Amino acid sequence: MAKRDYYEVLGVSRDASADELKKAYRGLARRFHPDRNPDDPAAEDAFKEATEAYQVLSDPEHRKRYDRFGHAAFESEGPGGFDPSDFGSVGEILEGFIGEVFGGRRRKRPGRDVSVEMHVRFEEAALGAQKTLEVRRPMPCDRCEGSGGEPGTTIRSCPTCEGRGEVRFQRGFFATMRACSACGGTGKKVETPCSKCSGSGRVEGTDELSVKIPPGVQDGAVRTVRGAGEEGPGGAGDLHVTIRVEPHPLFETRGADVLCTVPVSFPQAVLGATLDIPTLEGKVHMKLPPGTQSGKIFRLRGKGIPVYGGAGKGDQLVTVVVEVPEKVSREQRRLISALAEEMGTETHPQQAGFLAKLKGLFD
Ligand SMILES: [Zn+2]
Ligand SMILES: [Zn+2]
Repeated sequence: MAKRDYYEVLGVSRDASADELKKAYRGLARRFHPDRNPDDPAAEDAFKEATEAYQVLSDPEHRKRYDRFGHAAFESEGPGGFDPSDFGSVGEILEGFIGEVFGGRRRKRPGRDVSVEMHVRFEEAALGAQKTLEVRRPMPCDRCEGSGGEPGTTIRSCPTCEGRGEVRFQRGFFATMRACSACGGTGKKVETPCSKCSGSGRVEGTDELSVKIPPGVQDGAVRTVRGAGEEGPGGAGDLHVTIRVEPHPLFETRGADVLCTVPVSFPQAVLGATLDIPTLEGKVHMKLPPGTQSGKIFRLRGKGIPVYGGAGKGDQLVTVVVEVPEKVSREQRRLISALAEEMGTETHPQQAGFLAKLKGLFD
């Protein structure tokens, strides 16, 4: 295939200024960069073509020769000839562009994220807490202080990458930076590996982390601790903590409200009583008025859970259930029978109403 005209490749006129060339190339590089188009040979070819065109036209001497002789200017290997396979400088062009075009230096890969579960008590989830979490993860080796070298021995710079930890990977016209495989990206060459970590510089260890449990957190919520994941060449990943709220023997939640059920005896329901009610913050007294029906719900204002991310607190809702004795003594049975005779239906208005309706239904 015939080589396309360099000006045409960049989409600029023959009298384009240096700035116009640069702008045009930057646009094409952004579009066709191999990092953005992995495994796309067409994009790779377009990137190479644009880079070659820019390489030639951005050099005033080469541009002059190209304007006079076209592609023929670089076909001979004579003195002053230009060999497009010698693209050491393209890497430099690219490195300059990486900052401008792709927003900052190439980032080294951070370590992996780690996910753990943390169990918290109901009260801790409701009221908030500061918890210590033990996480098993690779940590810097204490024997060699993470260097990987046996203490007292020499650690040299990696000869492959000259201590930089990354190498330029040349592929045709473009160059990219890769982590150095000889040293694993550390930039160091260990002569005598540390006897504890075998030269890796890391050992499995237990890390203690402080995790803040916000008040009102729900079961299944995830807290992220930045930088507490695995270490990598570009820093540590994050730790994701899934919060598991343990069930409470007495309480359930509904939003910011706490629900509980309290059994009372028949005499307490009839005569009234003062009850000890458990709340998140300890016992409180609650007055049970005389004649309380089973199933009645009482509201203890402000005894619930702090509203997540907001002001105020929920309430505690106390459901009173009248407990009917399943077993009674002979004496109790006699007294209750006497009571039933004494009370009659007039003391049970609900029952009287029900019987009246029942009668009307079948007459
Ligand atoms: Zn070590
Ligand atoms: Zn290296």
